[in-house]
Amino acid sequence: MKKTLYLKFVLAYFIFFMFGFIIVTTFVPSMTKEQLVREKAENLYSEAMLIAQSYASGLYTSENSLEEVKAQLDALAVYLDSSIRIINPSGRLVLDTETPINVEDVVMIENFDPTVTRGSYYTVDHFFENYEFDVLSVFAPITSDYKVKGYVVIICDMTTIEASSNNLLSISYITMVILFLLSGIILIFFTEMVYMPLRKITYATEQYASGNMHYEFQVDSEDEIGYLAACLNYMASEIARAEDDQKKFVANVSHDFRSPLTSIHGYLEAMLDGTIPPELHEKYLNIVLNETDRLTKLTNSLLVLNNLNTKGILLDKSDFDINQVIRRTAAAFEGTCRAKTLAIEVVLTGDEMFVHADMDKIQRVLYNLTDNAIKFSHHDSVIKIETYEKNNKLFISIKDTGIGIPKDDLKLIWDRFYKSDLSRGKDKKGTGLGLSIVKEIINAHNENINVISTEGVGSEFIFSLPLAEDYDEDI
Ligand code: ADP
Repeated sequence: MKKTLYLKFVLAYFIFFMFGFIIVTTFVPSMTKEQLVREKAENLYSEAMLIAQSYASGLYTSENSLEEVKAQLDALAVYLDSSIRIINPSGRLVLDTETPINVEDVVMIENFDPTVTRGSYYTVDHFFENYEFDVLSVFAPITSDYKVKGYVVIICDMTTIEASSNNLLSISYITMVILFLLSGIILIFFTEMVYMPLRKITYATEQYASGNMHYEFQVDSEDEIGYLAACLNYMASEIARAEDDQKKFVANVSHDFRSPLTSIHGYLEAMLDGTIPPELHEKYLNIVLNETDRLTKLTNSLLVLNNLNTKGILLDKSDFDINQVIRRTAAAFEGTCRAKTLAIEVVLTGDEMFVHADMDKIQRVLYNLTDNAIKFSHHDSVIKIETYEKNNKLFISIKDTGIGIPKDDLKLIWDRFYKSDLSRGKDKKGTGLGLSIVKEIINAHNENINVISTEGVGSEFIFSLPLAEDYDEDI
């Protein structure tokens, strides 16, 4: 399977070579010869016409003597590397540049027929069996008083034409060989640039198919193949990462479920076997209740996360007044704030501020962020929820002056189940899922969320939302 592409290409190369060879060795020679004959015939014909109209016609009108004409034609014949004849329509040879003038001896050309050219002005044959080899002969009629008195025939040996044809052909053959050698470069290029990288990619795909997602390979080219290899590499690393994440996720879930279950089991067992006396039951039942609360919270968060993931987050977007949602969220935490002697300061842009988003999910974001701010704030401090407008977006900030987040943890807080060591003491019920839900929701809106935090000083979470379009036009 792997070799077929290469074989196909090599086969195509040799088929190309074979056809090229056949064409060059069959059609090209005959075409070249034909062209050279035609060109030569054209030249000779115009010469023959000139002779017919000048010296030869003078011969028939007795303007020129036979000797004069012979002398002229002899010179011309040498110049044209041909023999020139003047022949009467009956076939009688009047003049031949190859033989001296002999008026007594009447030479007849057997079967002389000027129509032998059949519509053309030249023929390639043995010239009425005068030659034992092929000659090129052109015929030009000598006319006087609208009558054909004779013909000027120029006969040229084919060997010179064949020699120049062969010269041209050898140039074609050399060019062909050079071309084939050069096209061999394409074969080398194909091997290096396409075949080798493809083999690497195929091998990598086999590795991935067999489950080895950590297999890495490199294709150093910036074309489509390089891009394909990079994409494949990226895909494999993402799958490997997802697999690792899943393993971590399952490990975290089991751990987070096991610890409350173990403590519930321990307390209940101790109460049943009397290790915990009945007067302390209420205290430990409250602890058990707390632990079940934690399990419920964990299960709910997992369900939310699962929904967000499986549906690719289907958002039910609408235009709504975010100010109202913020006020409602702040009011919901009034009881918790009073218990902790905290205040929530709400500073909003405008009375109403319409944004285009999924209201329920944004409410969850606000709830999670405010809940965190309260959880990690010190007593008697203020949490500030503020909104401001910039570049057609509304920015919402939730700022506390609590424990803050250590610098090294800042990147990790968005990960599922991540809880900084600092926060553990303050928040025993935390699942570490809140912020990953928040981030998924905001990202699904194609918006961003950021955190600015200093350990021991406080944290500020800022996220953006798109303004509702109608609202946008009004202002
Ligand atoms: P949890 O449900 O445990 O609060 P989150 O995903 O909401 O989980 O938060 C993850 C971690 O990020 C927290 O355990 C805490 O360490 C840190 N964190 C989040 N918000 C704040 C904040 N306002 N102040 C300090 N730490 C925070």
